[in-house]
Amino acid sequence: MRFSLKLFQMPPIAKAFDFIVIGGGSGGLACARRAAEFGVKAAIVEEARWGGTCVNVGCVPKKVMFNTAMHAEFIHDHKDYGFDVDYKGFNWAKIKGTRDAYIKRLNGIYESNLEKSKVDKIEGHAILTEDRCVQVGGQKYSAEHILIATGGKPIVPTNIPGAEHGITSDGFFELETLPKKVVVVGAGYIAVELAGIFNSLGSDTSILIRFDEVLRAFDPTISTNVTVNMEQGGVKVMRRTQVKSVTKRENGLLDLELNTGDKMTDVDCLLWAVGRVPLSENIGLDKLGIKMDNKGHIVVDEFQNTTGSKIYALGDVCGKALLTPVAIAAGRKLAHRLFDNKSDWKLDYTNIPTVIFSHPPSATLGLTQAEAEEKYGKEKIKAYKSEFTPMYFAVTTRKEKCHMKLICLLPDEKVIGLHMVGQGVDEMLQGFSVAVKMGATKAQFDSAVAIHPTSSEELVTMR
Ligand SMILES: Cc1cc2nc3c(=O)[nH]c(=O)nc-3n(C[C@H](O)[C@H](O)[C@H](O)COP(=O)(O)OP(=O)(O)OC[C@H]3O[C@@H](n4cnc5c(N)ncnc54)[C@H](O)[C@@H]3O)c2cc1C
Repeated sequence: MRFSLKLFQMPPIAKAFDFIVIGGGSGGLACARRAAEFGVKAAIVEEARWGGTCVNVGCVPKKVMFNTAMHAEFIHDHKDYGFDVDYKGFNWAKIKGTRDAYIKRLNGIYESNLEKSKVDKIEGHAILTEDRCVQVGGQKYSAEHILIATGGKPIVPTNIPGAEHGITSDGFFELETLPKKVVVVGAGYIAVELAGIFNSLGSDTSILIRFDEVLRAFDPTISTNVTVNMEQGGVKVMRRTQVKSVTKRENGLLDLELNTGDKMTDVDCLLWAVGRVPLSENIGLDKLGIKMDNKGHIVVDEFQNTTGSKIYALGDVCGKALLTPVAIAAGRKLAHRLFDNKSDWKLDYTNIPTVIFSHPPSATLGLTQAEAEEKYGKEKIKAYKSEFTPMYFAVTTRKEKCHMKLICLLPDEKVIGLHMVGQGVDEMLQGFSVAVKMGATKAQFDSAVAIHPTSSEELVTMR
């Protein structure tokens, strides 16, 4: 009786699809559009803005702001290069306006791409129902295959009184003016990137970290040098420091009490960059017995299968390699596997290249030296290092070093790790990632003729 009553209360199925994707971000869009190429009747559900985190509050607006900050840095070099530029100050509102307009254009492009691909767009919050359908508002849709690509959101600490007065990376993109005094809490790549942008653009910037260096999960080539570069560039790196409480004064400024006993006053922007949580709550996973780990990430196998029948998950909601190209690549592979008879296609999660838009940028691929030594034994690993001043700084008073490290596995010196910090390394890594993915050895790196004068030539001439 109860069962039939429930069925009676559920809306009838509005439309049947072959494939429904929940989440119109990097992974979901890529998968839905690729699936449609194979003649699949596909739909995608999005509750916020098309394009997801990357386009709206992630990679894209962040890179615009990184580029903005790079201008601020190059201004210091103009005189040294012979340009007498009359610098009259920086206008945050101007770049925010052009940036927002660019994002809006991208939202439209994503939407029209879906239309061109003949993928049905459904707007609203999707929930899986007990009878394995997808409900959005009062409408219910069925599909043989369902993908969950709901991504994640930034955390605001719940155990720090007054923490709600701070913003997250999402709020960074809403700031209407450049704050005067900024405190960024966190040591991961988002904390480093946003602190670097604020600092270069002229905010009095502090970064509060729990240990001694930022980016501790990375090779010391990156963690040590990025920490040093931040300090030399003017960011106050406050080690072993955490916020105990936050008070908002009548004038809107914040006072922070720290675990060290110190206080920070007159802060006009407190930014929490202390991690992200998956958006796996309130989407009905429990009803279908879909397994999650203790952090709420959806558990998947190497083919992106969840524990639910013909229900898949990928991207940030799975908690592995939280990067746009990872979500896109996993999505496309899944579409080929499900609808293009490529039954063994899956994403290889090894040797994923990553860039951190620090100042100067960092780029990394493969194992850190510690990981390599732990995996293969210290005696099997040979590391090549290089430190130099890129030629750009030959004539400038501002100096910045470039650091590189190659981790090689003996006896044939296969390159299994590559870590760099320095001007231009962000654009350098992609090509080398192909070589590493193909299993290149140090001798093969060296067999390439150098391109002179560049910083990248160092990678094929290290001794
Ligand atoms: C500040 C910042 C900077 C970043 N910089 C980079 C970078 O430089 N390079 C890089 O590779 N990566 C970067 N990333 C990470 C990158 O943005 C993510 O890895 C990527 O967006 C993950 O894609 P996804 O498809 O898993 O999820 P998302 O892109 O987050 O998309 C998920 C979508 O699902 C929607 N959704 C959620 N729940 C529901 C529901 N129940 N119903 C309907 N819709 C729902 C959301 O609204 C969202 O649009 C950055 C992230 C941040 C926060």
